[in-house]
Amino acid sequence: MLPLPFNPPINKIFLPEFSKNGVEVHIQRDDYLHPFISGNKWRKLKYVVEDAANKKCNHLVSFGGAYSNHLVALACAGAMLKFKTTAFVRGENVNNHMLNFCKWYGMNLIFVSREAFKNKIELYEEFAKKNELTYFIDEGGRGELGAKGCTEIIKEKTGFTHTFCAVGTGTTLAGLAINASQYSIKAEGICVLKGAEGINQDVENIAGINVPIHHNFHAGGYAKTTPELLSFAKHFAQNTGILLDQIYTAKLMFGILQLINQNYFEPNSKILAIHTGGLLGMLTAIE
Ligand SMILES: *Cc1c(COP(=O)(O)O)cnc(C)c1O
Repeated sequence: MLPLPFNPPINKIFLPEFSKNGVEVHIQRDDYLHPFISGNKWRKLKYVVEDAANKKCNHLVSFGGAYSNHLVALACAGAMLKFKTTAFVRGENVNNHMLNFCKWYGMNLIFVSREAFKNKIELYEEFAKKNELTYFIDEGGRGELGAKGCTEIIKEKTGFTHTFCAVGTGTTLAGLAINASQYSIKAEGICVLKGAEGINQDVENIAGINVPIHHNFHAGGYAKTTPELLSFAKHFAQNTGILLDQIYTAKLMFGILQLINQNYFEPNSKILAIHTGGLLGMLTAIE
């Protein structure tokens, strides 16, 4: 199964712009958990693969785009734990480093049109008729079992007032919010998609509480970037040694920085940002 290999360390960010008004920003290095089952994907898969094994399934079936961190993580975890893996990939048959990692780990890829991809249950049920002992995992590993793994992100209070993570499906934030509330830490999310206000309800449905999500730091939409975002991520890498991927964690840290500049936080707030990994996705941005 997927017990956590270790508790990831927390690094303080020593950059003047991150320490205005006595505010401190620290970053929990979940990106260290595993290079391919990266960051939150390890946590999100932990109880999903346990459930699959309990149900005596041996074939994990999931869904994603052509650059999905979730699919690479699933392919690797499947190989580690001796599950077969199949993924429905949205869009035309393409080749890229992410899908090549999936194939290298033995994942069976089925490319489907954007139209067909919308009906995941139907795709899964057709597939399950012809294959034995299959187990359905939603796109991005979203859902309650995924969130359950994320309720283990924070291990102790250590004086933090806030914790922040990037939001795709909101599954990580939902688990983090349940986790943080035990330590009276306020959890908030930075959404990386445009026009995704509906996620607030998804998060509330799982977490059972209202969790603030900032919807103005998506830089144009999912996987979109701006020159400011990329130069921020480079500056951050060059002055901390910490890589941020342009799709999730750069938007997270740039969002936190902008909130600091807007005096959103009380003086002396202590913020714990979660580095959810995703660094393989950087290879498309680096030139
Ligand atoms: C998948 C991913 C997320 C999004 O997590 P959700 O639980 O879907 O909100 C955040 N950060 C990174 C690096 C990811 O790969």
